[in-house]
Amino acid sequence: MLKITVGFLLGIIAGLAFGPSAQFVSPLGDLFLRLLQMIIVPLILFTLIGAVNSSNPKQFGRVGVKIFIYYMLTTAIAMLVGIVVGGWFNPGVGLELTGEHIDVPEAPSFIDTMLAIVPTNIFQSLVNGDILSIVFVALTAGFVIVSMRHSEEKRINNFGNLLYDFSQAGSEVTFRILNGILQYAPIGIFAIAASKIGEQGFDVLYSLASYVGASYVGVIIQFVFVYLVFLLLLRVQIKRFFKGVWDALITAFTTSSSLATLPVAIKAAEKAGIRESVSKFTLPLGAAVNSDGSAIHYGVGAIFAANVVGMELSFAAMVAIVLAGTIASIGTAGVPGAGLIGLSIVLTEVGLPIEIVALTAGVNVITDMIFTTCNVTGDLVGAAVVDKSEEKYELAINSEEANVG
Ligand code: ASP
Repeated sequence: MLKITVGFLLGIIAGLAFGPSAQFVSPLGDLFLRLLQMIIVPLILFTLIGAVNSSNPKQFGRVGVKIFIYYMLTTAIAMLVGIVVGGWFNPGVGLELTGEHIDVPEAPSFIDTMLAIVPTNIFQSLVNGDILSIVFVALTAGFVIVSMRHSEEKRINNFGNLLYDFSQAGSEVTFRILNGILQYAPIGIFAIAASKIGEQGFDVLYSLASYVGASYVGVIIQFVFVYLVFLLLLRVQIKRFFKGVWDALITAFTTSSSLATLPVAIKAAEKAGIRESVSKFTLPLGAAVNSDGSAIHYGVGAIFAANVVGMELSFAAMVAIVLAGTIASIGTAGVPGAGLIGLSIVLTEVGLPIEIVALTAGVNVITDMIFTTCNVTGDLVGAAVVDKSEEKYELAINSEEANVG
C-alpha cells in the first residue's frame, strides 16, 4: 500500500518537475499495463470457474440477484447524481460548438448488446478480450463442471474433478504471476503518473473547470452518499475496507482502466476481508457491466451538452437520459476513453449533437481518472456489501438450525 502510494506521489512530482520530458519513463508504465492485460483473460476464466465451484448453487443464485440489484440501483443513482451536480455547476454555458467532427461508432441497440454476451466463437472472444462474453463462457463452464463433479457416473465425475483441478492449477499459476506483477506496480504507477501529468499539465483545466469540477464533485457525492451509506448500513468496517482496497483505487486513478485494475482489485478485496467466493464472482462481473463513474460522466456530459446548445431539459428528457445512460454504462468497456463513446450514445438517444463530445475530449484524461476510480470502487463496495449480507444470512440460518437442533 505504502509503496504504490509513494510511487504515485513521486510520479506526480516528477511529472510536474519535468513536464513533457517525463515522457521518457512512459515505456515503464506501458510495461505495467501490458503485464496486467496479459493476465486478465486467464484470471477471469479461472477465478470465475473456481467461484462457481466453491459456493453452492443456492448461495450463488442469491449473490447473483443481490449484486444485480446493487449494480442497477447504484448506477441509476449515479446517473441522477451526474444530472443534479451538472445542474449546480452548469458547465458548458457560453461555449460554442466548434464544428469539430468526430467519428462515433453507431450505437448498438440494447438487444444487440445483450445478444453479444453469447459469443459465436469462444476463441474469438478470448482473443478479442470481449469481457462480457468471457464471463458468460466461464460461468457456463463453471456450472457444467459443478454438475459433472456431482454426477453419479464415475467417468463423468472423474472428468469434472479433472477439469476443476485444472482450473485450480491455472488459477494458482495466474495468481503467482500476478503477485510478481504487483511487485513491479509501484514503478509502473510512478511511470504512468509522471508521463500523464508531464504531458497533460493543468492548463487545459481552466477552460473547462466547471465541467471537471462537476465530474469530481459528482464522484465525491457518490462516495459519501451511496458507497459510504451502503457500507455503514451493512456494518462493513470502513477503515479496513478502504485500507484494503487503497492500492486498487490508486491503480484505477492512474491507469484509467477498470479492466487493467481488475487483477489488483481481486487482490485488494482479499486484503479488505471480502470472501473469495463472493469477490471472485462479482468483481469480474462488475468490471464488465458496472460503471457508476461512467454513469456520472453521462449525466454531467448531457447537462453540458444541453447548456452548449441552449436546450432546456424537460423532466421526460432527464428520465430518458437516466435510462439511456444506465444502459450505456453497462456496455462501457473498462478501458481508457471508453466513456466518450458511451456519452455519444447517450447524447444521440436524447437528440443532442454528438459533436459536443469533442469539446470535453480535451479534459477526458483528467475526468477519466476519477470516473474509473468510481467504477472500481462501485464494484468493490458491491462485493463487500453482498459478502456482509451473505455472512448475516448464514449466521441467521446457522442459529436457526442450532435452535431447532
Ligand atoms: N475508463 C473507464 C474505465 O476503465 C471507462 C470510461 O471511460 O468511462 O472504467
